[in-house]
Amino acid sequence: MTAVLERTPSVVEDARVSIYQPEQAGLIFPSVPKFTNVADERRHLKERLVAACRAFALQGFDYGFAGHLTVRDPEHPSLYWTNPMAVHFSQVKVSNLILADHEGKVVEGRHAINRAGFVLHAAVHEAHPDIVAMCHAHTVYGTAFASLGKKLEPITQDAAVFFEDHVVIGDEAGQVAVEVKAGHKVANAFKGVKAAIHQNHGLLTASRHSIEAAAFWFIGLERCCQQQLLVDATGIAPRLVTPERARYSREHVGSEYIGWLHFQPIWEQLVKTQPDMFD
Ligand SMILES: [Zn+2]
Repeated sequence: MTAVLERTPSVVEDARVSIYQPEQAGLIFPSVPKFTNVADERRHLKERLVAACRAFALQGFDYGFAGHLTVRDPEHPSLYWTNPMAVHFSQVKVSNLILADHEGKVVEGRHAINRAGFVLHAAVHEAHPDIVAMCHAHTVYGTAFASLGKKLEPITQDAAVFFEDHVVIGDEAGQVAVEVKAGHKVANAFKGVKAAIHQNHGLLTASRHSIEAAAFWFIGLERCCQQQLLVDATGIAPRLVTPERARYSREHVGSEYIGWLHFQPIWEQLVKTQPDMFD
């Protein structure tokens, strides 16, 4: 039994699978892996963290050295693997990942850490032992939308996956991303939700399942911010998905497992096109 699988109740996972895999036994379908030793699991997690960084590069989520992704070590849960400071997302590979503690001290790896930004991740991970992965970046649409200080509306099925499942962390957050106090504010906001819009700063996602889920829901959140801005720019009030239907969509197509499943085509594409990520 693996730590990865233990993080997601199998009954929930099975329920989600049944939606997409009715009577398809024997056909190729991704499954959450199981591990018999921690070294294999750690290698797996590091490879997926690298893939998440590469996916962010493909999405154009880079902005200088801003942005960081973390995944909790399977053996030492108070330590986190993260991308190296000032290395482009497209150049992150298994061999240049770094392992850091809650204070942002690098305990393994050759590169420095973005300690200022890491404060946010460390605070959330420390406050929520169930959160195993986080993503943050200064994206165009997410950061623009964050300036409005409001939540996304359920304007589509895709946006409904964030209905009552994201928060806006407001106001004074703009200048204080580097302070421990801001980290605690962000951490407090992450109770039971998978995403946060940090006003005047950018987007954050967290996963109790996997780095793949955190990364995919970050991609989804940025896309929803873009769509919301497009709709708002028309000046016409959109017809919203009703709260009942939005909740249904969130439960059935917005779960951690579904986020993980959405990431699988991205993983396969990267494996075929960017084999140097395993270096
Ligand atoms: Zn930031």
